[in-house]
Amino acid sequence: MMDEYVAAEAFADWLGREVLMAARGDREFTSPHEPKGKYLLGRLAAELEVANQAMLGERFERMEPCAVGLRLRPSGADTWDFEASASCVAWLRIEDGTWRKTEKIACVVRCSVPARVGTFAFGAGEFRRELERTTGVEVLGAEIRSEVEVGRDGRLDLIVQLVNTSPEEDTTLQDTRLYECSLAVAGLPTEDFVLEALPDSFRYDRRVPAYGLNAGVERTGPDGFSTIDAPVCSRRRPVYWEPGTPAPDLTFGRLASDPLPQLEALAVALRTWGDQVWSDAGLDERAVEETWSASMRDEAGRCRLEFQTEVERIETGIATLSANARLLRAFQLMNRAIGISAAGKYDAWRPFQVGFLLANLASIVDPSADAEIVDIVWFATGGGKTETYLGLIVTAAFHDRLRGKAAGITAWSRFPLRLLSLQQTQRFANALAGAEIVRREEGIDGKPFALGFFVGQSSTPNAIDPDPKSGNQWNPNDDAMPAKAQVLEVCPFCRQRSIEMGFDRAVWCLEHRCTNDTCPWPHRALPVFVVDDEVYRFLPAVVVGTLDKAASIARQASMRGFVGAPIGRCPKPGHGWTYAPRSKRPNGCLVPGCKHRPEALGCDPILFGPSYRLQDELHLLRDSLGAVDSHYEALYDDLQQELCGSRPKILASSATLTGYEKQVDVLYRRKARVFPQPGPSPRDNFWATPTAQLMRRYVAIAPRGVTIEYAVDRMLTVLQQTMRRLMDDPAAVCAEAGVDPAHADLLLSLFGTDVVYGNTLRDLDAVERSSETQIAVDGPPPNVVSLTGRTGFEDVRAILNRLETPEPAFLDRVHVVTASSMMSHGVDIDRLNVMVMLGLPLGTAEFIQATARVGRRWPGLVFVVHKIGRERDAAVFRDFEKFVEHGDRFVEPIPITRRSRRVLERTIAGLELARLLMLHEPRAGHALTLITSIRRYITANPDALDDERNAIMDSIAGGAMDSGMRKDIETWFERFERNLRSPPPNAMFPSQASPSGDPMLSLRDVEEGVPVMGNTQP
Ligand SMILES: [Zn+2]
Ligand SMILES: [Zn+2]
Repeated sequence: MMDEYVAAEAFADWLGREVLMAARGDREFTSPHEPKGKYLLGRLAAELEVANQAMLGERFERMEPCAVGLRLRPSGADTWDFEASASCVAWLRIEDGTWRKTEKIACVVRCSVPARVGTFAFGAGEFRRELERTTGVEVLGAEIRSEVEVGRDGRLDLIVQLVNTSPEEDTTLQDTRLYECSLAVAGLPTEDFVLEALPDSFRYDRRVPAYGLNAGVERTGPDGFSTIDAPVCSRRRPVYWEPGTPAPDLTFGRLASDPLPQLEALAVALRTWGDQVWSDAGLDERAVEETWSASMRDEAGRCRLEFQTEVERIETGIATLSANARLLRAFQLMNRAIGISAAGKYDAWRPFQVGFLLANLASIVDPSADAEIVDIVWFATGGGKTETYLGLIVTAAFHDRLRGKAAGITAWSRFPLRLLSLQQTQRFANALAGAEIVRREEGIDGKPFALGFFVGQSSTPNAIDPDPKSGNQWNPNDDAMPAKAQVLEVCPFCRQRSIEMGFDRAVWCLEHRCTNDTCPWPHRALPVFVVDDEVYRFLPAVVVGTLDKAASIARQASMRGFVGAPIGRCPKPGHGWTYAPRSKRPNGCLVPGCKHRPEALGCDPILFGPSYRLQDELHLLRDSLGAVDSHYEALYDDLQQELCGSRPKILASSATLTGYEKQVDVLYRRKARVFPQPGPSPRDNFWATPTAQLMRRYVAIAPRGVTIEYAVDRMLTVLQQTMRRLMDDPAAVCAEAGVDPAHADLLLSLFGTDVVYGNTLRDLDAVERSSETQIAVDGPPPNVVSLTGRTGFEDVRAILNRLETPEPAFLDRVHVVTASSMMSHGVDIDRLNVMVMLGLPLGTAEFIQATARVGRRWPGLVFVVHKIGRERDAAVFRDFEKFVEHGDRFVEPIPITRRSRRVLERTIAGLELARLLMLHEPRAGHALTLITSIRRYITANPDALDDERNAIMDSIAGGAMDSGMRKDIETWFERFERNLRSPPPNAMFPSQASPSGDPMLSLRDVEEGVPVMGNTQP
C-alpha cells in the first residue's frame, strides 16, 4: 500500500505536469496547426491587439492577456533595485504552411525603480535583439514594465510585468504572439500582503507574499518570485492521531468488550493536548508574535471556552456510560455491530468519531434535555461523517430495544438531494444488518432492525396499486417491475452481489431478496423497505430519504409513524401497522383488500416518537427550500410534541460553518453546536494531523485565447491519450513518470476515469457532444457517461456500479463522467481521482463538496478551469491558493428566513391539513377527508379552528411574528372556514377549501432561484 501510494503520488504529479506542458506547447517544436488555436497557457497577445479591444475592457485582457507578471510590496524606501528575468518563444509560419517554434530566448534585465508612482520600462532593446536573432526578422518586441501604484491600504505596490510590445499583425510572421512566457524577479526584499477577501481570525494566516497577474506565483528564494501558468494548491492527507504519541485502542473489538479504559485514555489525551495548545499563556504568546488585534484575542478566548466545554461533554459521556448499564450495553453492542458491518475493510473508529459519539450520548438517555441543541458534524479534512452518525443511531436503536421500544422509527435521515444517496443508503443498510445479527445473537426482543428508503415516486413507489392505471410503472403484474425499485447493490448481511428483486403478492411487499444460500439472514426478504406504504406498515428503525418527502404528511395519514404511534396493528402476519381507515382500506390496513380488524398497538404509544431527525448537507437548506423546510420542521416538532410529549434531537452535517448558528435557529428553532471544535490554528488539531502524503492537488487554469470548451476538450485529450499510452506501453510511460511499471494496472484504474464537473447542463451537454469528435485519442473514442439530475434512477445505479467495479479491459471502461451538482454529495468511489471542473460553481460550499469526490483514498488531481472573463472566477484565480487553503471560510453566508409571506402562502395549506389528519382525525372518531366531515367536526368542536390558527402562528413565529404574516394566517383561516361552511362549487376535499390552493407535493415545489439539484422528473 505504501509503495502503491508513493507510486500514485508520483504519477499524479507527472500527469498534472503533462497536462500543463501540453497546454503551453513545451514539448512541441513543429505543428501543422496554428499555435494560437492550440496553446491555452503561457501565451501573450500583442499589447496593441489588447488595446484595440479596449471596448471589451479588462475582461478581454484576462481572456487573452498581453502581459504576465507579479504584484509585490518592496520593503526598501527610496529605490528598488532588482533583477528581472523573462523567457519566451515565437512560432514561425514556414513555407509548407506548417509552423516551427524558435529556440527559447531568455533575457536578464537589471531594473532600478524609484519608489514613487509611475511607469518605467526596461530591457526593450535586449528583447528586440534576441527576438530578431531567433526569428530572423525585426518585428517582435517585448519589455519589462514596472509600475508603481498606491495599494488599497495606501502603501506603494510594485508591479513587474513582461509585456508583448509587438505589432498586432505582421505579414511575414503571421502570428505576433509570444509563447511559453514567464517572468521572475530576484534580489528584491518584500513584505507580505494581507488577504482582504477574508476577515481577521486568530486561527488563520492571511499573509500573501505576492500576487500573480494573469498567472500564479512561486517563491524562488528569500527575495525572489516567479510567475507560474497555473496556480497550485495541494492538500495533504491527514492522520487521525498524532504520530509518535501513544494511541488508545479504538478498534470495534476492544470497544465491544472493554470500552471504558480506552475511552478514558482518549479523554485524558484530549485534555492534556488542550492544556498545551489552548493555554492562556500560549494564546498570549501567539497574540504578540502574530500581532493579533484585541478582538482576535477575545475570539481566541471564546474558542478556548468552547473547546473546554467539548472536553467536558466527552468526559460526561464516559461518566454516563460507566453509570448506566443499559447505555453501556447498547454502546458495546453497537461496536460489535459496526465491526460486523465494516466487514474487514476497517476495524477501528477514527478518534473524532468516538469523540462525537461520547459527546452526544446524553441525547440517548435524556433526549428532552438535549433536544434543544442541534449537533453538527463538521470535519473539513476527511470523510467518515456517515459512520459517525451511524454509531450514534445504532447505539440509540439498541438502547430503544433494551428500554422496551420494540418497534417504530428511531431515526429519520434526510438528504437534500434525491439520487446519489444510494451509496450512503447501502452503508446504513450494512450497519443495520450488523445490528440485526447482534440482536439475534443476543436474543434481544423486538422487531428486526430494518431500513426504510423514503424518496420520490420516480425512484421507488409510493404504493403498489392492485389495479394500476396505464402509465404507472409500478404494476404488480409486470415481472420487470420489482427490479426498477432496487436500491441496494449488495446484500447487507453476506456482502454478495446476490440481490434479486421480487414482489410477494401474499403480503403485498416489494422485496430485496438475497439468493446466497450461505447468507446469515435466515429469511427470503431482507429487512429493507423501499415502498412508502411498507415504510408505514413496518416503521423500520431507520428511515433514509430525501427531505422533500416531508411534504407528504399533509396528504398521508399513514405518515403518523414519523411523529407518533400508528392507530393499531393488523393481526394478519406480514401486514404491519394500521392507520386511519379510508374507503379503499376500510380497516386501516394498508394491504389492499385486507379484511382483518386491527388490534391495539400492544405498546405505549409515546414510545413511537423518533429520537432523531438527521439532516445531511445542512448548508443546502437555504433560500426558499430552507424557508419552506423551516415551516415543516416546526410542524413535525409540534406533532411529535402533541402525540408523544417530546421533540426529537436533530443531528446535521454541513460543508461549512459560515452562519450555521443563524441557519439552525431559523430552520429548527434550536441552538447549534459543532463537533469537533477546530483547533487554535490549522496546524493544531487534536483530531487530524496532516501528513506528507498528497491528498488532492488543485490546479487553476485560466485558458488564454481559446474557449473554455476547447480547453476542456484539449485537457481530456491529453489525459486520455496518456492513459492509453500507459495501457499500450506501460514500461515506457512508467519510466517517464518515474514509477515502477508493476503499478501500471493500478494507475490505469486510478487515473483512467476523468470527472468533468459542470455548473450548467448546457456546459455538460457540450462536453458530451464534443467528446466523440474533439477528444482526439488514438483508437475508439472515449466512453462517456453522465450523472446529472436528468439521469434516471436505474442508470445512476448502473453507472456507480461500473465505476466501482470497472470492466477488465481499459477500453471498455467509463473514461469520462460528465457530472452536475447532483454528484457533489455522497459519491464515494476510490477510483475517481481526476476532475476537470468547468468553471467555478456558484457557491464555495459546492466547490468544496464537488472536488472532494476525487482523491478520497488515493491522490487526486483537480483542474479548475476558470471562466476567467467572469469577475468571480477572476477573483478566485487571483487568491487561488488561499481559496483552497481556507476553503470553508470563503463560503458565503447562507440566506435563509422563516418569515416569508410568499413561502407561508405555499406552506400553510400543508401545515393545517397535516395537523387535521394527525391530531384531529383520531379525536374525531371519523375520517376528516371530506369537506363535509370536517364541517361536522368543527361544528361539534367550535374552538378547533381558532386553536389551530394560534398553534400555527406559534409554530412558525414563536411569538415574534410580524403583523403582515399574522394577518395572512388570520385571513387564511377565515377563508378556510368559510369554504368549509359553504364550499365552492364541486369542492369535496379539504384541499379544495384551502384558500391558497393544494398543499405542496414536495418541499422542492417552491424552489425558485436555486439550482435544481435533484431528479427533475415529476
Ligand atoms: Zn445475503
Ligand atoms: Zn391486514
